[in-house]
Amino acid sequence: MTQSAKPGPSADPVIRMSHVSKWYGHFQVLHDVSLDVRKGERVVVCGPSGSGKSTLIRCINRLEVHQSGQIFVKGLEMTDNVKNIDTIRRHIGMVFQNFNLFPHLTVLENLTLGPMLTRQMKKSAAEDLAMHFLRKVRIPEQSGKYPLQLSGGQQQRVAIARSLCMEPEIMLFDEPTSALDPEMIKEVLDTMIELAESGMTMIVVTHEMGFARTVADNVVFMADGRKVESGPPEEFFGNPREERTRAFLDQIL
Ligand code: ADP
Ligand code: MG
Repeated sequence: MTQSAKPGPSADPVIRMSHVSKWYGHFQVLHDVSLDVRKGERVVVCGPSGSGKSTLIRCINRLEVHQSGQIFVKGLEMTDNVKNIDTIRRHIGMVFQNFNLFPHLTVLENLTLGPMLTRQMKKSAAEDLAMHFLRKVRIPEQSGKYPLQLSGGQQQRVAIARSLCMEPEIMLFDEPTSALDPEMIKEVLDTMIELAESGMTMIVVTHEMGFARTVADNVVFMADGRKVESGPPEEFFGNPREERTRAFLDQIL
């Protein structure tokens, strides 16, 4: 099934998902999902647990493989073409619920590893870059610590800074605040708001509807592997069209 790089249907959206379906064995986890994301757009994906949100965004950098439909990132199609996958992954940062930091490396080493290994940066340049992003997420003083010496909120900000050190054009967040104690959620959301204000293209899976209201250009509601409805936050929250969306919002708001 290896295919050569071919341009997407439009150079315009940085991400284009077109009629994407995916199965785990016989279980269909994604049903015909289409979604365009333009440069600088902020998309929030919400929906009940098990509705396919993680699977959806993991297909974008091919941590999961879809079986039908097409996904284009910057005009390159996500197939099993390894060269495309490498190119596309270089443009995409991902932040997970559980931070996924390397526990045996210091904060600074967590941040410099990627740039040194995959971008062939010299150690001193990688450290300068790392400190730049640690200042951005407001924890430069933690650079010499190990992840487990930090609070959850600090660890997640390190994870965000680590992604930013790869200077991605797109950031994917999968429930970045779900594992945090309530008092730490705000510091991580504030970091993400600043990132959004800097113009980063972002897809954020979250149940933080306050964040969705203030930051999102487009809110997508998933249920049972289907994109049930989507729209700008004023419409989505003010006048949801689908009964399932209303029921979900009633539960969480
Ligand atoms: P969400 O992120 O919305 O909670 P997921 O994308 O994680 O949803 O999962 C969607 C559905 O797919 C769930 O029913 C889940 O149990 C199932 N699923 C997720 N990962 C796998 C897997 N690797 N193998 C089989 N089923 C899976
Ligand atoms: Mg999930």
